[in-house]
Amino acid sequence: MPYDKLRPPDDGEAITVKDDRLVVPDRPIITWIEGDGTGQDIWKAARPVLDTAVELAYNGTRKIVWFEIFAGEKAMATYGELLPKDTFQAIQDFIVSIKGPLTTPIGTGFRSLNVTLRQRLDLYACVRPVKWIEGSPSPIKNPEKLNAIVFREATEDVYSGIEWEMGSPEAQKFLRWLRDQMGIVLGDDTAIGVKPISEYGSKRLVRKAIRYALDQGIPSVTLMHKGNIMKFTEGAFAKWGYEVATQEFRDFVVTEQEVTEKFGGKVPPGRILIKDRLADNMFQQILTRTDEYQIIATMNLNGDYISDALAGMVGGLGMAPGANMGDFVALFEATHGSAPKYAGKDMVNPTSLILSGVMMLRYIGWKEAADLIEKGISRTVQQKRVTYDLARQMGVEPIKCSEFGYAICENMRALVPA
Ligand code: NAD
Repeated sequence: MPYDKLRPPDDGEAITVKDDRLVVPDRPIITWIEGDGTGQDIWKAARPVLDTAVELAYNGTRKIVWFEIFAGEKAMATYGELLPKDTFQAIQDFIVSIKGPLTTPIGTGFRSLNVTLRQRLDLYACVRPVKWIEGSPSPIKNPEKLNAIVFREATEDVYSGIEWEMGSPEAQKFLRWLRDQMGIVLGDDTAIGVKPISEYGSKRLVRKAIRYALDQGIPSVTLMHKGNIMKFTEGAFAKWGYEVATQEFRDFVVTEQEVTEKFGGKVPPGRILIKDRLADNMFQQILTRTDEYQIIATMNLNGDYISDALAGMVGGLGMAPGANMGDFVALFEATHGSAPKYAGKDMVNPTSLILSGVMMLRYIGWKEAADLIEKGISRTVQQKRVTYDLARQMGVEPIKCSEFGYAICENMRALVPA
């Protein structure tokens, strides 16, 4: 792991993988990227929360050893490039990382730094849990019914960047090929985008979602797709998803059709229900039958839309965590963007990053610390000590981003008396 400009800390150890499991030392080195814009603000609030929770939960016997790596503007300042090789290498070497938001650079050849990170590191599952925290504002009547996790495929679909501008030589060439070879005639003023959905990419995503459901005792996995229209891409995703379920997890799953035809409408105990919903219907169902959905496995674009819709139901993007995951390498991240107009103002809500930290703690098996943070956030929100975004919806005076972090620490200390 030779680096150009990075120097790993000496007082911690790398997390490793053995026999298909993470091996986590008591002082794991975790790499972190501050991110652009409000990244600086949310990190200042989030890191003390994560450190305090670990210290309280394990009485000082465990500690995260933070190792800063660079992407975005900070990387540009240090390396003269936005995504240096060191950063990719360190994320792979240390397995577990967490990042703030990155501004999408205009006119640099990067579609987006986040998409590039996901694609280059093959972090194929973008995992976004959405759960309501008691006390937070919500536009729906029963937000407590929402407890869902989106597994969004992150390397394929229209995000692959295969598209050509109207009138470009490539678009013209493609249109000619369509006309001459396939007999499909489209106007010369047509722009072209390609939607690749592969069996391999779809199956590994659904496999990960079902494994997660099994590990965590989650009762259902829903395949979200628009296969009635895009039969050979989105329709195939659903078909491959059912194949994974029924061929690789036969004794542990039951499909909705089987429930109706063989089990009198009742899911047999101990089985995970596998169902599918058309994407448009899915948006309606999460509002009207919220508690019937737990894991939603879907392709890249659907996943993007549904994640934000769900986040809106629990108070907005500032409240929703996320992770980009490969087979083992995991990059946890705040799901919102860099919100540049608030940068350095100590105003925005750090909960998305803190909850991404909670996901990270669960991923490394430090459940007690994760639980403590969730309780700390909930108490703080119930005390109406919240940042401007929630304060506005709750009709209370806002506190600063950093004050919110301190308030969570105070509440966690109160929960674990010395
Ligand atoms: P954004 O998420 O940065 O901000 C949109 C609005 O959401 C903000 O103006 C603010 O009102 C609100 N908001 C965002 N984060 C908040 C928080 N933590 N607390 C309270 N309110 C919050 O989206 P944008 O303005 O469209 O994008 C800004 C930049 O971020 C762009 O360059 C975009 O490409 C990038 N981006 C990055 C990520 C990521 O790193 N994962 C995700 C989305 C957008």
